[in-house]
Amino acid sequence: MREVDIFIIGAGPAGSIAGAKLVQDGFSVKIVDKSTFPRFVIGESLLPRCNELLENANMLEPIVNARFELKPGAVFQDQGHNYIALDFSKNLGQKWGSSFQVKREEFDKLLIDDAESKGVDVEYEVSVVAYDEINNIIVVENKDGSQVKYKAKKVLDASGYGRVLPSLLNLETDSSLAIRRATFARVDSDERPSGDTNGYIFIDVVGDNEAWIWNIPFSDATTSVGIVCTEEYFSGFKMSDEEFWNHIIYSNKNSAKRYKNSNRIVEVGSISGYSAAVTKLFDKNYILTGNASEFLDPVFSSGVTLALESGAKAAELTARELSGEEIDYQVEYADYMMLGINVFRDYVNAWYDGSLQTILFSDKKNEEITKKVISILSGYVWDKNNSFVTSSRLALKTTYEILSKVS
Ligand SMILES: Cc1cc2nc3c(=O)[nH]c(=O)nc-3n(C[C@H](O)[C@H](O)[C@H](O)COP(=O)(O)OP(=O)(O)OC[C@H]3O[C@@H](n4cnc5c(N)ncnc54)[C@H](O)[C@@H]3O)c2cc1C
Repeated sequence: MREVDIFIIGAGPAGSIAGAKLVQDGFSVKIVDKSTFPRFVIGESLLPRCNELLENANMLEPIVNARFELKPGAVFQDQGHNYIALDFSKNLGQKWGSSFQVKREEFDKLLIDDAESKGVDVEYEVSVVAYDEINNIIVVENKDGSQVKYKAKKVLDASGYGRVLPSLLNLETDSSLAIRRATFARVDSDERPSGDTNGYIFIDVVGDNEAWIWNIPFSDATTSVGIVCTEEYFSGFKMSDEEFWNHIIYSNKNSAKRYKNSNRIVEVGSISGYSAAVTKLFDKNYILTGNASEFLDPVFSSGVTLALESGAKAAELTARELSGEEIDYQVEYADYMMLGINVFRDYVNAWYDGSLQTILFSDKKNEEITKKVISILSGYVWDKNNSFVTSSRLALKTTYEILSKVS
């Protein structure tokens, strides 16, 4: 049996930031990942809050040096006249007013390499297959089928869509969100909007809010293009992923124009039923982070932000506990994480019921409201000075009611 202070399952953003912070605090950290890196994962558009979290963990430098496409904001538009460009720098005074559009195979590799260079022991092609929660013993399986046991003082699950501890410990529960699917590809030679919205993510509403399209420009002149809709909407077309992707992209006025000279450079991929939740986020010996805990929806690009936030928070609390402090994980971890997750949840729900579009597209809202919304969509969902954070559902409802009357 091998021993380590902290054992982390998964080398994505949640695992990397947690590991890097903990070794910098003087603990021994082992991270295993079942894949080899670089590996593809969906989720390519970051929020300004990510920069702050990486900066606090001393991990921003390699990301800045990689010259990813700068992401200064987000555009939301429909096929009519509705259009809004949100400039992330016009927030409520937070330091970071931009982030990056990243190919995750590159971004995630930079982060885990950085964590390794700081002293994390990283092993690839090693899967966690069993967990003894009482004794905090993890069983891993190597590629050749051999197994090794680790005893840790704390286990962090950062296994993303693998959801290792939720499935081993039976912690899965239904998400409050509808089952949706994403159908996506990458293209070259798109006709990008220039000027003020250079580098922005573009979100196109399809039809009467039946689906939406993401357009994420990368610095190598390729672009990620994905469609999100319910399973019912997709199956109504009776098409393959590729046929559906082509049909939606080239029948939408905005994307048809943008991609008229483009070639698809990868196979069309899809992922379905990705919204997930758990019955608890921690217990005495483990903490769930990132997508291994709760994942909402891609519409506001919140996934990596929540992965970094939870990884960093889990690391901070673990370091304090192992240094002798008594930690109230319910208050300091679960309640804290759920505050931010629930703000995003309210925005996701308001997006799909259409009320957020009314707010976003209204030219009657004042500058203060716009700043509060920008701040939230930049990932500052823990800012208690923002009334749209502290009472997000009420603020959305009231703003919608006022604006729909005056519009
Ligand atoms: C359609 C779609 C679009 C999205 N778009 C965005 C976006 O634009 N911006 C954004 O921020 N987020 C987006 N997301 C969310 C984003 O994909 C995730 O939130 C993010 O990848 C979570 O990071 P993580 O570190 O928790 O897990 P991951 O990045 O998934 O990493 C988990 C790692 O754990 C490893 N692992 C799994 N099982 C095991 C095991 N048994 N043993 C060992 N290792 C294991 C995996 O190999 C993987 O490398 C999107 C999600 C979807 C579904």
